[in-house]
Amino acid sequence: MHRIVIVGGGYAGFYAAWKLEKHLRRNEAEVILIDPRSYMTYQPFLPELAAGSVEARHVAVSYRRHLKRTRIVAGRVTFVDHAHKRITLEHADGTPDSLAYDTVVLTAGAVTRTFPVPGVARAAIGFKTIEEAVYVRDTLIGNLEKAASTPPGPARDRLLTVVFVGGGFAGIEAFGELRSMTTALLERYPELTMADTHFHLIEATGRVLPEVSERTSTWVRHHLAERGAFVHLHTQVDSAVDGRVVLSDGQVLETELLVWTAGVVANPLVTRHTDLPIDARGRVSVRPDLRVGTPDRIYDGAWAAGDDAAVPDLTGAGVGATPTEPGTTVPNAQHAVRQGKLLAKNIVRALRGGTPENYRHHNLGSVATLGLGDGVFQSGPIVVTGFPAWLMHRGYHVLAIPSWERTWRVAAGWLSNLAWGRDAIELHEIRAPRSAFEEASAPPPRRLPMAS
Ligand SMILES: Cc1cc2nc3c(=O)[nH]c(=O)nc-3n(C[C@H](O)[C@H](O)[C@H](O)COP(=O)(O)OP(=O)(O)OC[C@H]3O[C@@H](n4cnc5c(N)ncnc54)[C@H](O)[C@@H]3O)c2cc1C
Repeated sequence: MHRIVIVGGGYAGFYAAWKLEKHLRRNEAEVILIDPRSYMTYQPFLPELAAGSVEARHVAVSYRRHLKRTRIVAGRVTFVDHAHKRITLEHADGTPDSLAYDTVVLTAGAVTRTFPVPGVARAAIGFKTIEEAVYVRDTLIGNLEKAASTPPGPARDRLLTVVFVGGGFAGIEAFGELRSMTTALLERYPELTMADTHFHLIEATGRVLPEVSERTSTWVRHHLAERGAFVHLHTQVDSAVDGRVVLSDGQVLETELLVWTAGVVANPLVTRHTDLPIDARGRVSVRPDLRVGTPDRIYDGAWAAGDDAAVPDLTGAGVGATPTEPGTTVPNAQHAVRQGKLLAKNIVRALRGGTPENYRHHNLGSVATLGLGDGVFQSGPIVVTGFPAWLMHRGYHVLAIPSWERTWRVAAGWLSNLAWGRDAIELHEIRAPRSAFEEASAPPPRRLPMAS
């Protein structure tokens, strides 16, 4: 049977598998999805997860529950040898393996973009996975707890300082949500006030949220400042050794929580471990119909979509568009979902000898949460801010998360929060789950004989 192997089950890969199950006839092809995780991560909910508004597991869409006809392989693909149509991978337990295919789909997404800044690799954390968002939430709550019993001074200031690097959508949303959670939690800490906390977002360029207009971007910045959160524009991090963040303007911020949200780059698997064509930004080159290739060559049987692919934006509004070149689609979920769905249709068309359709999608606009009850939306000249925008954000994402089962779980969580407030509890012992048992099972210390 024809074998289709999907590398990565995020937005694009999950939707491709889901729709292939729908479009393929019985025994027409076998679909295999390889991903180190057992679930798709709904990344737009990570800021709300970090703020205790959404339960961590509700952001994960289980492959085995929702992909009934796809073979799931828990592993990390290490090389795609398209010349021989063979994939090498490492299973979850580290065992190496290889797999032959007829069709490969590259949907391995992107990874956090980092720079060789001294100290960052040790002191900072990214914000792309559920584990990272849980860590950020737990660290912030844990720091509030420690600060409550620390006398005012540099040590307490360090515990109460939060630094984000990067003012794109992910950074601004998480920053706004954490600020909002801190405001809510401080009611439980009579020892602390809002003025004791310090929230800083560092942005290298002259504005935040590049997807919205200059005016909306400025509104967001001022709005955050009104809530006591500082956005530093035209500023870079020079070093962050042991949480001592030195900025390019000479300022120093001591912090226990440094979150790195300075953009994404294509997954290194795609950039360095395939024999497929790569563009200048390390993404796999695809044609408008999502087949891997360049204007003069099609790599038969290879397809790609989402953040790891340079998909031509035929609307002309793409990144790097010139009068002669269309530019490429922005790396976001809006495109990844639609590309994943079209991938499935096009693969089936190609299998049946048909002609694949070109990808074309006009941007619907951008919506971001800035904290509980607060948000911003922009579509062309239409801008909505505050509570209505936040409602739009919640309404859109609760319906967009794959499967009604997830929609219901997230919505039920919000309804519970409406009655009892957000569920912001830190479970830091989860990082060392055996410590209580080890302590209990340790031999009792020898009793010293009483001195006579
Ligand atoms: C905090 C945050 C908020 C966001 N909010 C929005 C928003 O509001 N709106 C919007 O449009 N976009 C948003 N985005 C962006 C959006 O989530 C991404 O653009 C989208 O997830 C890209 O989909 P993808 O399928 O290309 O990659 P991903 O969804 O990242 O999936 C990639 C998959 O590949 C797997 N993988 C990685 N390496 C390997 C390997 N070697 N072998 C096998 N599998 C592998 C990963 O485990 C993952 O499952 C947000 C992103 C973040 C981080």
